[in-house]
Amino acid sequence: MLMDKFNRVINYIRVSVTDRCNLRCKYCVNEDFPFLPHAEILRYEEIIRFVRICAELGVSKVRLTGGEPLIKQGIAFLLKEINMIQGIHDISLTTNGVYLGEKVQELKEAGLKRVNISLDTLKPQRFTFITGVDVFDRVLNGIERSKDMGLNPVKINTVMIKGFNDDEILDFAKFAKVWDVDVRFIEFMPFGESTLWDNSKIIPSRAIEEMIKGVYKLEPSFNSHRGPAKMFKIRGSLGKIGFISPVSSHICEECNRIRLTSNGMIRPCLFSDVEYDVKKLLRSGADDQEIKAFIGNIVRDKPERKYEIGQVKKCQRSLRNIGG
Ligand code: SAM
Repeated sequence: MLMDKFNRVINYIRVSVTDRCNLRCKYCVNEDFPFLPHAEILRYEEIIRFVRICAELGVSKVRLTGGEPLIKQGIAFLLKEINMIQGIHDISLTTNGVYLGEKVQELKEAGLKRVNISLDTLKPQRFTFITGVDVFDRVLNGIERSKDMGLNPVKINTVMIKGFNDDEILDFAKFAKVWDVDVRFIEFMPFGESTLWDNSKIIPSRAIEEMIKGVYKLEPSFNSHRGPAKMFKIRGSLGKIGFISPVSSHICEECNRIRLTSNGMIRPCLFSDVEYDVKKLLRSGADDQEIKAFIGNIVRDKPERKYEIGQVKKCQRSLRNIGG
């Protein structure tokens, strides 16, 4: 079992399969920051080996993310291989949804049961403004097809940024209710390349919750995947509303995860730029025992918490590099 010195059991890894993305979300990507050279990116066999070793250490949950995982050739193959690793009981995916409509059947056949789709606006023109690409309808189609294929839950991740999309809070609540999906509002976080980052752009979850409660009847709900989201059922719908509050509250006590970045670094805490190079070991003939010891030591030293509530320190790398 992987346990840190604060008795948190680490049973979840998030794997960034690429730093590349087909969208250019203003708050995530800056054109001046180049993509990593291909040789730096972990190959599938290296990811599969890493996950297998983690599974032998007790990891049971994996999320594939990026960059955009669905632009990677053979992503369903990777998903299937990971799904077949003994000990892995839950595999999920975070995507911008653009290629989901056309790939969801293959992904489901490979073992995908649930999906998280990022969507920050319900206005087509604003979508194009935020992402730089006119593909709003394709994302909606991806959401619809995922529901039709029986993926459950279908979660919509929405980053709320003051003056950017906060006029759509109630529209998203209505979307959850009408589409029977889980909409999770995520606080804007201090990461990487974007020049948009500024403390004043954060909208605390509490304010969003109050606004929605003024219109919809919300009842506390169980978070079936033990994640950091505080979840609510909406009366009269199968849809749920959730709040992920990495800035305005502590989610660190519950943290059960580490990250594998696209260039093969283990990042034990999202909010700390300290990373450890496991690619070097994977590529230099290290045996499984050495890699297990390496991972064990990293987990043991996982930081206790990010910083105090409300404090923000900008991290160097964008989420597209780390794996959001
Ligand atoms: N391309 C996939 C997607 O769009 O879901 C996966 C990678 S993306 C980096 C993962 C998530 O990180 C997205 O939901 C995105 O909105 C979120 N994200 C990126 N930068 C962020 C920031 N500064 N604060 C909060 N969320 C951020």
